[in-house]
Amino acid sequence: MSTEVRDDNPYSRLMALKRMGVVQNYENIRKFTVLIVGVGGIGSVVAEMLTRCGIGKLILYDYDRVELANMNRMFYLPTHEGLAKVEAAKISLININPDVEIETHNENICTIENYEKFNQRILNGSLTGGRVDLVLSCVDNYAARMTINKSCNNLNQLWFESGVSENAMSGHIQQLIPGELACFACAPPLVVANDGDENEIKRDGVCAASLPTTMGIIAGFLSQTVLKFLLQFGEVSPFLGYNAFSDFFPKYPLTPNPDCTDKKCKELQQYYNDHPEERRLKEEKKVEEKASAHDDNEWGISIEGGEDEQAPQQETFVEVKKEQSLADLMSSMKKLQTKQ
Ligand SMILES: [Zn+2]
Repeated sequence: MSTEVRDDNPYSRLMALKRMGVVQNYENIRKFTVLIVGVGGIGSVVAEMLTRCGIGKLILYDYDRVELANMNRMFYLPTHEGLAKVEAAKISLININPDVEIETHNENICTIENYEKFNQRILNGSLTGGRVDLVLSCVDNYAARMTINKSCNNLNQLWFESGVSENAMSGHIQQLIPGELACFACAPPLVVANDGDENEIKRDGVCAASLPTTMGIIAGFLSQTVLKFLLQFGEVSPFLGYNAFSDFFPKYPLTPNPDCTDKKCKELQQYYNDHPEERRLKEEKKVEEKASAHDDNEWGISIEGGEDEQAPQQETFVEVKKEQSLADLMSSMKKLQTKQ
């Protein structure tokens, strides 16, 4: 990756981040492999952003085809109609940056056969034939999220989850470190936590709303977080929410649920309790230090860059107590999202 400032160097603006002291080793981006499950409204935009940033390799999973109903979102073109999403994505991404290796799987990871193969791609899919550096969930249904959750817990694989609400007015990204942060089964959606029908989460025949704006914002958050995580600059938020009605961006850590229904999650929680020196969550100490400075805000939630200059406004705080259950916490989040 050349650092030369020339009009014909596609990486000169990116390498400027290094000269300006933002990132120490931007060229390392070429070594990383990211596996993305779901290349719809969020995943396709994340794939494009990472491709433009010069990521080493992308592994894309999806089993949908491009439809004209997808054209209200970014990335796909009317000429892609009828193509498998991963194939259409590969054509566009290679045109954008031929340096990036693109591996595609037009498969549903939820079937038994594909699930085993999916696990193998996580373990052996990197540029050097080893484990991928990150798994991203950009799917639109509960079953696929639970499948990714199961894989990542079993393989102790760090991953990020993302989503946009059915009315397109809120979204989130969430970091999941097995045993250290809440997994997807630790904090199930409210309807599941309340013994409701999980199929209600995505109802057949019900057309959910979607906006390129909300999806682009969440895709931007997720891509930025991937860069920060891989290239080790800035802070990686464990959870970052977005409410479009009120421009509200809550962020807070989600601790794992000791009563999680995923056996491997509980095993890893025990392991990292017994071996705290092996924890990967580097920001934990920092969060605790911040928390002690704010008696009324023990999770250290603050406005970025604003805490020393002005008192944060009351509505920027999420009232999260350490003893509060995750279901309660998600309930608080839900109320915030619906508060208009
Ligand atoms: Zn769990």
